[in-house]
Amino acid sequence: MPTPPLAGGTTGPAALRPLLDTVLTALQDGALRRDGPLPAGGPDTVTPHLRTALHPVIPDHGTGAHHALTTLISALTQGAADPADPLCAAHLHTPPLAVAAAADLAASALNPSMDSWDQAPAASALEADLTTALATEIYPHRTAPDALVTTGGTEANQLALLLARERHGPVQTIRGANAHHSITRAAWLLGLPEPITIPAPTGVMDLTALADTLARLQGPLLVTATAGTTDTGQIDPLSDIADLCATHGAELHIDAAYGGPLLFSPTHRNKVHGLDRAHSVTLDLHKLGWQPASAGILAVPDHHHLDALHHHAPYLNADDDTEAGLPDLLGRSLRTTRRPDAVKIAVTLQALGRTGLADLIDRTCTAAHHLADLITKTPTLDLYEHPTITTVLFRPTDTDDHTVATIRRTLLTRGHAVLGRTHTNGRLWLKATLLNPHTTPHDLQKLLDLVTHLATALPKGSTPR
Ligand SMILES: *Cc1c(COP(=O)(O)O)cnc(C)c1O
Repeated sequence: MPTPPLAGGTTGPAALRPLLDTVLTALQDGALRRDGPLPAGGPDTVTPHLRTALHPVIPDHGTGAHHALTTLISALTQGAADPADPLCAAHLHTPPLAVAAAADLAASALNPSMDSWDQAPAASALEADLTTALATEIYPHRTAPDALVTTGGTEANQLALLLARERHGPVQTIRGANAHHSITRAAWLLGLPEPITIPAPTGVMDLTALADTLARLQGPLLVTATAGTTDTGQIDPLSDIADLCATHGAELHIDAAYGGPLLFSPTHRNKVHGLDRAHSVTLDLHKLGWQPASAGILAVPDHHHLDALHHHAPYLNADDDTEAGLPDLLGRSLRTTRRPDAVKIAVTLQALGRTGLADLIDRTCTAAHHLADLITKTPTLDLYEHPTITTVLFRPTDTDDHTVATIRRTLLTRGHAVLGRTHTNGRLWLKATLLNPHTTPHDLQKLLDLVTHLATALPKGSTPR
């Protein structure tokens, strides 16, 4: 076999073009064969089908690029849970925009690595300006805000706790019962005391309980609030929490992985009022930003807050190189080799502009409200409450939790719909987290029809209500 062509350089694009054609055909064929939000049959069908395409995983002699791409990309697509299908609506699993996926291809072909300037001369400049611009959206009144690109909310939350620890030593984290699990894990990883949990009986952090806890505790404290909770999509009372933190001398981190991008919508930005009062803010653009994974952000009000991450490795940031003017990038992450995720984000923002992004956010929020309205008009369904962002919880009336769980699993195994599940207020709910701006009222009605049909068709669970 001839030496396979490379993706970059002057000859890379010509080598890529026919391969891309093969990939696009496989994506199309696979989606047509799947014909739905996910493959029917569950793991017992999907796994053997994928294995047939995949094996032998490492053949002695390769089958060639076109064959391998056709075989594996077709099988992968046919077996995908595809968030571009409006009935795939679980887990804040975003349908990436075509423009972002196209930009990500360029990032793969050029392969800049963000750990030193000599691997990413233009990409590092792009990242620096993009992170400054995003940080300025969050902290508009600060003179030198900054942000880091992360692999997502988990890494951003971890960095936030790390920075607090570096400022104050072993901080005591205080989180709502509604906080993301990554906060507790970050405290564990960083050797911090186990977080104190504030109740969230209405889905958001209870202010009286927070005030009592803050009044009672000594030593460095970090409160983590959530803008867009995982279970219900609610937003903690950010300004009130910031006031309490100021009164008691505690620092504040806001996990706005889900809700943060509402900032871009003039219609919805008031919901995240108070973000700029936090010492750090997590935001995910692979949720309400329509980026392929990953595209996380940790923003801070002043770039000096990131100084603790400075790190010296002479082969990447030798002092004389830095003194001669080469940007020192190693302190921009705990990773070394790092994908230029800023590229797809910058291309998307330029392509859509503020109004384009706001339109996507508004459409998706509108779809969620429409779904909630449809549920309230369906006598056989109960709505948990009207959505704050795009999370809608519902369940069939007069059904036990066992049946709710079975409905979700049956929709999955039949390949009809992907819904999440949440246990709240003592019951199990179906959870639709809408992120697809192309979702129509017809799609939403179809989703509800699937659920109400199953609720009638399935035998009732054995657990008493
Ligand atoms: C999604 C999410 C996270 C985790 O983010 P990843 O990008 O999956 O690492 C953390 N917190 C909240 C509130 C989230 O919505």
